[in-house]
Amino acid sequence: MTQAFQKVAAIRGMNDVLPGVGARWEQFEEIVREWLHAYGYRNLRTPVLEHTRLFARGIGEVTDIVEKEMYTFTDALNGESLTMRPEMTAGIVRASIEHNLLYDRPQRVYSLGPVFRHERPQRGRYRQFHQIDVEALGFAGPDVDAELIIMLARLWKRLGLTDVRLELNSLGQAEERAAHRAALIEHLEKHRDVLDEDGQRRMYSNPLRVLDTKNPAMQAMADSAPKLFDFLGAESRAHFDGVCALLDDAGISYRLNPRLVRGLDYYNLTVFEWVTDRLGSQGTVCGGGRYDGLIELLGGKPAPAVGFAIGMERLLDLWDQTAPAATVPECEIYVVHQGDAAQRLAARVGETLRDAGLSVIVHAGSASFKSQFKRADASGARVAVILGADEVAAQAASIKYLRADGAQGDAQQQVPLAELAQVLKSKG
Ligand code: ATP
Ligand code: MG
Repeated sequence: MTQAFQKVAAIRGMNDVLPGVGARWEQFEEIVREWLHAYGYRNLRTPVLEHTRLFARGIGEVTDIVEKEMYTFTDALNGESLTMRPEMTAGIVRASIEHNLLYDRPQRVYSLGPVFRHERPQRGRYRQFHQIDVEALGFAGPDVDAELIIMLARLWKRLGLTDVRLELNSLGQAEERAAHRAALIEHLEKHRDVLDEDGQRRMYSNPLRVLDTKNPAMQAMADSAPKLFDFLGAESRAHFDGVCALLDDAGISYRLNPRLVRGLDYYNLTVFEWVTDRLGSQGTVCGGGRYDGLIELLGGKPAPAVGFAIGMERLLDLWDQTAPAATVPECEIYVVHQGDAAQRLAARVGETLRDAGLSVIVHAGSASFKSQFKRADASGARVAVILGADEVAAQAASIKYLRADGAQGDAQQQVPLAELAQVLKSKG
C-alpha cells in the first residue's frame, strides 16, 4: 500500500497566479510590450541562475540584497556557488559583455520575469516577484535618462494611473562621492550614538546607505547629514540640469530628493524612483538610474548605461485599484454537440473557426445540452455553436448568442457550415 502523501504547499512568499488573474497579467504584459516596442526596446532573456560572484560584484558586497536577501546554494555536482537572480541588471550586463553586444552600437533592451529575494513576505514584498527591467546600454547623455523617465510617465498614463510621483537625485561621480563620503563619515562619527547595528556596521563600508535607513530614531541624523547633491561639480550639475530641462519640456513634475541613493553600489549621476501612497508601505513601483561604471566593473570595455526596474506585482496592484479588472472570457465561441457524429464534426468545426482567427472551446466529453450550455455560459463565450443530428444532416450549425447584448438576442439560427466562420466573425 502506498503511504498517504502529505500535501505540498507553495513556498512562503512565492505566489501562484491563478487563471482569472493570469488573464490580467497577460493583458498587462501586452500593454507593456507594446509600450517597450514604441521606444525601440528589444527583448533579452538571461538565465534565472547565475554565478554568485556576478551579484556580489555587480550589486556590491555591502548591500541589503547581497548581505541578506539572496537565494544562494552550492551546486552539488561541482561545488560552484550559484544564486537565483535578485535583480536583472547584473545578468543583462554579463550577457552584453559575453556576447559583445555593444561592439558596433548602443543597445536598448528589456527583460520581463521573476527575481528572488529572501525578504519578510508582506503586501508588495514577496520572495519571488517579477520585474520589468529596461536597460539602455552604451548611452551617455542626459537625453536617454530623460527618455526613460518620460517613457515611464507614458506607461502610467496608458494604465490610467495618476497617483505616481517622481523623485529625482544625482549621485555625481566617484570623486564627488569620495569628497562627500569623507564629510558624511565625519557626520556619522559625530552621531554614532543614534546609529543602529546596520548603521554602525556600514558607516565606513557604505556610509551613503546608512542614510537610506527606515529607522525613525535615525531620521534627524540623516536629515542633517551633508548632502551629496551639494558636492556635485559643474559637469554633474550640467547632466542633472539636462535631465530636468527635458522633463520640464515633457511636462513631468518631480521632486529633488537628496536622500535618494538607491540600494546598489554602482549608480552614478541620475537616480530616480516613482512612488505612490496607494500601496501602503511598499510604495515604490519603479527605481532606476545611471550606472556608467558597471560594465567595466564586470570586465567589459568601459561603456555608460542607464536603466530601471518596475516591480510588476506592485504596479498590478495599483492598476487594479485604478482600473478594476473586467473578467476576461475563456473563449469567444463555445461549441456544444450531441451524438457521436456531431462530436466528430465539432472537432473539425473548432479547427476551421480557429483557422479564421476565432478563439474556440469545443465541449470535451459528452453531456446533456443543458449542462453543456452551463459550461458555455461559465466560459464567458459570446456565442454557442450547436451541433446535433439535424445539423449533421443539414451540414449546418445552429448558433445562439449568449450575451444579452449579442447581435441576435435569444433567437437561434441555422447557418451553413461553409458560412459559419464568416457569420461568427462579422456579428457581435
Ligand atoms: P524596496 O526599497 O521596496 O525594498 P528596492 O530598492 O529593494 O525596493 P529595487 O531593487 O530597486 O527595489 O527593485 C525594483 C522594484 O522592484 C522596486 O521598486 C519594487 O517595485 C520591486 N520590488 C523590490 N523588492 C520587491 C519584493 N520583495 N517584492 C515585490 N516587489 C519588489
Ligand atoms: Mg529591497
